[in-house]
Amino acid sequence: MASDVRGTQLKRKLVDTGSDSDNETEKSTKSMRTKSDGPRLCPYLDTINRQFLDFDFEKLCSVSLSRINVYACLVCGKYFQGRGTNTHAYTHSVAESHHVFLNLHTLKFYCLPDNYEIVDSSLDDIKYVLNPTFDKLQISQLDKSDKQSRAIDGSMYSPGIVGMNNIKANDYCNVILQALSHVTPLRDFFLRESNYSHVRRPPGDSSYLLVQRFGELMRKLWNPRNFKAHVSPHEMLQAVVLWSKKRFQFTEQGDPVDFLSWFLNALHLALNGTKKRDSSIIYKTFLGHMRIYTRKIPPLELEESQRSELLNTVEYGETVTESPFLYLTCDLPPPPLFKDQFTENIIPQVNLYTLLNKFNAVTEKEYKTYKENFMKRFEITELPPYLILYIKRFTRNTFFVEKNPTIVNFPVKNVDFGDILTPEVKAKHPYTTYDLVANIVHDGEPGQGTYRVHILHRATGQWYELQDLHVTQILPQMITLTEAYIQVYELKKETHMENGDNKNKKII
Ligand SMILES: [Zn+2]
Repeated sequence: MASDVRGTQLKRKLVDTGSDSDNETEKSTKSMRTKSDGPRLCPYLDTINRQFLDFDFEKLCSVSLSRINVYACLVCGKYFQGRGTNTHAYTHSVAESHHVFLNLHTLKFYCLPDNYEIVDSSLDDIKYVLNPTFDKLQISQLDKSDKQSRAIDGSMYSPGIVGMNNIKANDYCNVILQALSHVTPLRDFFLRESNYSHVRRPPGDSSYLLVQRFGELMRKLWNPRNFKAHVSPHEMLQAVVLWSKKRFQFTEQGDPVDFLSWFLNALHLALNGTKKRDSSIIYKTFLGHMRIYTRKIPPLELEESQRSELLNTVEYGETVTESPFLYLTCDLPPPPLFKDQFTENIIPQVNLYTLLNKFNAVTEKEYKTYKENFMKRFEITELPPYLILYIKRFTRNTFFVEKNPTIVNFPVKNVDFGDILTPEVKAKHPYTTYDLVANIVHDGEPGQGTYRVHILHRATGQWYELQDLHVTQILPQMITLTEAYIQVYELKKETHMENGDNKNKKII
C-alpha cells in the first residue's frame, strides 16, 4: 500500500512539473526500485571534478534546453536531462564514461548508466554549494567571524565579500545587489528560505521568482563553503529581466538608482507588502516619512502689487503632503560653469551636511513645471533603520546627459541626521547617528562609464572595493574621494539596551 501511495505521488509530481517527454523517469524509478535495494556505494566518486562545478547558471539541459528533470554531470559539470535509457544524461554517461550525476531539483545523486542512487556524506559539500542553507546560529555569527574560506583553486575569500560576474553590462545591478547583501536585517531575512517560502502570489504572477532568486543569491554570496570565490547573478538577473518586462537588462548599462527603486518596490509587492511599515522586510528596513510643504509662486511677469495680492489668496497658500520614502534624493550644487587657469584643476567639493539641509524643514527649493513655479521644503518626520542617500549627479536634458563631478565630503562613521530634524521630530528619535555600510560610485562619462561599490566587512572593520570579479581592500579615507552616487547608512543603537526589542542590537 505504501508503494501505491508513492506511485500516485510520483505521477502527480510529473503532471505538476508539466513534464511531457519525461515518462522515462517513472519507468526508470520503478525499475530502480526492483533492480536495486536502495542506495549503493559508487566506485566512481573519485572521478568528480569539483572545480568544474558551477550551479549559478540556468538549470537547463545543454542538449534539449529543457528545464525539466535536469542533472549535472559531476565529472565535466555539464547539465543533461533525464536519467532513464536514451535520455541525454544516460547517453552522455555512456559516450563519455562520466558516471556521477546530481539531480538539480531533488538534490539526489545517481550513478549512470547503472541508474542507482548514491548516498554518501562525502558529497554533502556539493549539495551545499547548489543549495546553501543557514540556521539562526550561523547567521548570528556572520558579522563576528573573521574566518576566511578557501575556494577549490586555493584562493581565500571572506563570505559576503565576493565578486560577481559582469555578464555583459550588469555592473549597475551588481553594485545594488552587493550593497543590499550588507543590509543586515534584509540579508538575515533572505538567508532563511522559511521566512518567505510561504508567501503566495495570485496564479500567473511570477514575481515570487524574484524573491526566490534574490534569496538564492544572498545564500550564495554568504556561503562559507563555496567552490569558487565569486558568484554569478545570472539567474537572479533573468528574473529581473522577466519581471521588469525588459526595462532592466544585463546587456545594456542602466542607472543603479532606477534599478534600486524598482527592485525594492518589486520585492515589497512580491512579499505581499502593503502601505504599512511592518508589512514587508523592505519597508521595515528602509521606509522613512517626510512632510512636503509646497507653495505656488505668482508669475514673475505680473506687477508687484498683483503678485503680493495673489500671495494672500488660498490658492497661493502652503499645502502639506505626507510622503513615504525609501531613499532621499540629495542635490549637488551646480558645478562652476567656466574653468579658468586657476580652477581647472580643482574639483568642486561639498559637505554632506550641506546636502542634507534640503530636508531641514526650512530650506526652500524651487521647482519649475511647464506652466508654474513652486517652492518646496521638506521635513523628515521619521528616520528609517537604514537610510539610503541618492546623490543626484546626472541631469538629463533633451539631447544629452550631464554629470556633476562634485565630490561629497562625508564621514564614514557617526553621521548625525539629528541636526536636520525639527525639535518635535527629534524628540521622537532617541538615536539619529548613522554609519556608512555601502557606497556606490560612478566612474567615467555620463550615460556610460562603470560602477563599483565599497562594502564594510563588519567582523574586521575592513572596507572592500568590489568591481565585478575584483575584490580589493581599501582605506576608508579613500572612499570619500570618490564620486559617490548611492550610499547606505545604518542607524546605530549600540547603547540602547533598555528596550526588549533591541536586546540583540548591541554592536561591538
Ligand atoms: Zn560529463
